[in-house]
Amino acid sequence: MRSIHCLTMLAMLLPIGLGGAPTLFANELAGPNVIVIFCDDLGYGDLGCFGHPTIGTPHLDQMAAEGQKWTEFYVAASVCTPSRAALQTGRYPIRNGMCSMKRRVLFPDSTGGLPPQEITLGRMLKQRGYATHAVGKWHLGHLPKYLPTQHGYDSYFGIPYSNDMDFVKGSSKQRFEDPKSKNFNVPLMQDNKIIERPADQTTITKRFTERACDLIRQHKNDQPFFIYLAHNLPHVPLFRSPDFENASRRGLYGDVIEEIDWSVGQVLNTLRETGLDKNTLVVFTSDNGPWKSFKQQGGSAGLLRDGKGSTWEGGMREPTVFWWPGTIEPGVVMEMGSTLDLLPTLGNLAGAAVPADRTLDGLDLSPTLLENKPSPRDQMIYYHGDEIFAVRKGMYKAHFKTKTSYQGQRQAAVHDPPLLFHLGHDPGEQYDIAKQHPDVIEGLRQLKTKHEASVEPVENQLTRKN
Ligand code: MG
Repeated sequence: MRSIHCLTMLAMLLPIGLGGAPTLFANELAGPNVIVIFCDDLGYGDLGCFGHPTIGTPHLDQMAAEGQKWTEFYVAASVCTPSRAALQTGRYPIRNGMCSMKRRVLFPDSTGGLPPQEITLGRMLKQRGYATHAVGKWHLGHLPKYLPTQHGYDSYFGIPYSNDMDFVKGSSKQRFEDPKSKNFNVPLMQDNKIIERPADQTTITKRFTERACDLIRQHKNDQPFFIYLAHNLPHVPLFRSPDFENASRRGLYGDVIEEIDWSVGQVLNTLRETGLDKNTLVVFTSDNGPWKSFKQQGGSAGLLRDGKGSTWEGGMREPTVFWWPGTIEPGVVMEMGSTLDLLPTLGNLAGAAVPADRTLDGLDLSPTLLENKPSPRDQMIYYHGDEIFAVRKGMYKAHFKTKTSYQGQRQAAVHDPPLLFHLGHDPGEQYDIAKQHPDVIEGLRQLKTKHEASVEPVENQLTRKN
């Protein structure tokens, strides 16, 4: 613990920037290795340790028992691109133009991406002397200037956007029910080069896992490493390797989750085998809630309302586990945290310089992780595109607008006065209590106004045409 605090003080003396920051050498570092495992469209209720009755996730269940299971952990957007921008930068995506009402994510014909001046997890840790590797889905711009290798990562191996994009025209509407890799012409990339197209999606979870385990072994005896392992699944179309065909009582969707669980087991076992488990922080979470439009092909948010694309809890709360044996206090944390918080938290733990020249929305969760202290986070702003739909402070959440799942309701419903829910008494957001608490609503309105005043206009990256 003491070494971490000393490193943090040292880091405060170090400037951070795009080119000029000093790099420390490996033997000067005492920070942990870090692995962030990030799923795509995994629901709050899709893991055994979060209550799913027919999907078997023994490795994640064990990880949760040995680590901290967070029950109120949020993403900053309910769809892929803005959620990933928030995780990488610790900033609401409104601050770097990575969210929009018109085009909610980046597409293969998009020309924008995460602006080069943004400081990602990779860049922050690289400047601290870490080896940094991105594996899997990126979705923050597929053009060369936006790829992970331009954003602080030493290497990249993965699919640069969603696995349902580039679908082959004329391929059957059944493409999601009986998916075939050939119907989705998505590229698999090594650094900035396409090495396979269409990517064989039946083996992507396996290959991403092997890549992550190879990197762990490769760095066993040299510098600390950061691996961002972002699975393309369980986003539709669903694929799993032959070993997991018909493995799960939950059907195809369960097979996919059980292969991801196997992957987690491989990563943790590799850390144990290399003796790095006591010096590695592993975080498991996902980018947004289940894609309910696809019915049984989509996941479950458990008792939470709605899913991907909405600002109801099911769209934005994710099953999250932190694991660092011997250092993290095991337990269940029923407090708020967010992917926004990873940048300052990992920065502090690694002794890296957290960017101080821009607005950060993330908070340092390390007191909760290391000492079981209350989480510093007591509020969340819920964006739908570039507009605030809801605000939470403490146990109360006000919805100013609502729109059910991704492709359901066409127009957002406007609520004035807003709907109000107590997420402790009513985590499923069933019982509006606005009439009883006008004072609470006023406080939440003020919080919304204050946040809006902190946002400066920037070029939108999702709708730009050049
Ligand atoms: Mg997603």
